[in-house]
Amino acid sequence: MKLMKTLLATVGLATAAWMAPAAAQDKGAVGISMPTKSSARWIADGDNMVKVFKEKGYKTDLQYADDDIPNQLAQVENMITKGVKVLVIAAIDGTTLSGALQKAADKGVKVIAYDRLIRGSKNVDYYTTFDNFQVGVLQAGSIVDKLGLKAGKGPFNIELFGGSPDDNNAFFFYDGAMSVLKPYIDSGKLVVRSKQMGMDKVGTLRWDGAVAQARMDNLLSAFYGKEKVHAVLSPYDGLSIGILSSLKGVGYCTAAQPCPVVSGQDAEIPSVKSMLKGEQYSTVFKDTRDLARVTANLVDAVLAGKTPEINDTKTYNNGVKVVPSYLLKPVAVDASNWKKVLIDSGYYKESQVK
Ligand code: BGC
Repeated sequence: MKLMKTLLATVGLATAAWMAPAAAQDKGAVGISMPTKSSARWIADGDNMVKVFKEKGYKTDLQYADDDIPNQLAQVENMITKGVKVLVIAAIDGTTLSGALQKAADKGVKVIAYDRLIRGSKNVDYYTTFDNFQVGVLQAGSIVDKLGLKAGKGPFNIELFGGSPDDNNAFFFYDGAMSVLKPYIDSGKLVVRSKQMGMDKVGTLRWDGAVAQARMDNLLSAFYGKEKVHAVLSPYDGLSIGILSSLKGVGYCTAAQPCPVVSGQDAEIPSVKSMLKGEQYSTVFKDTRDLARVTANLVDAVLAGKTPEINDTKTYNNGVKVVPSYLLKPVAVDASNWKKVLIDSGYYKESQVK
């Protein structure tokens, strides 16, 4: 009789488990901390991650910090208190979270730096991102190609913009771009009339388009009286739009005076529209769907006690340790390939950019 009961109970349990739908699986909560909603890419990143984590059986707590450092810190601390198993963080300032990350480590919470490296802490388990140096190479490469520098054309005037100095990525973008531009600057084929070079001079705090616009206004009035600027290295679409506004304000982007060659990053809709109008010249597309998928797979493996897939163990030293990373490939986009890259891939609908 006892045996019978045990057998029935076991069969019952097995049946219940077999019948349980996949979605009922509860693998715990993932805290997703994003920097800001002011740029469309972070909204897409957050939405994509919620989707993939849910499909894998996780609950999610997605927070945006309005580009405010204390806000992000409070949100992350709150996630730890609420008992998340993993934190996925795109940091505003990658050096300000050390205290919270120690608390996370003490509770056994895994930490993934998402897109931006978190610096100055040993408690960063993995980093998922795009090849950030290559982003800069692509931005500068599009300028070099369009100006015809390889064919010996020039000299041309160029001005340089960098990203936010508290974002580790900004240095990789700048260094990648300079690896391509520097030989032309050294040979005199590219001239930086303002002489403003180096991240300490060209950085743009918090990636703010209005700050870039104001700096471009100053550059134009101080260094471009009669001379024209032929190219502007911009590391992010939001800055490119500000830079173009400034240029238009003094008569560029007309039949008589075309826009300089302006680069960008993220393939944000206003910039794709600008490219199709022949204003911004190029951007760099980073498929946030892929980054979300790679991140969720990595988290799933780590929580299952498996070794996650990584493809870089050398590049990203955060000042305390080299963080094992997974790097995705960025793609250069201009008016010649936008349709294939952005529309055929299903990232945007054509109606969104026209
Ligand atoms: C990201 C870029 C983005 C920039 C501004 C960087 O950390 O990698 O994709 O353009 O932040 O949001």
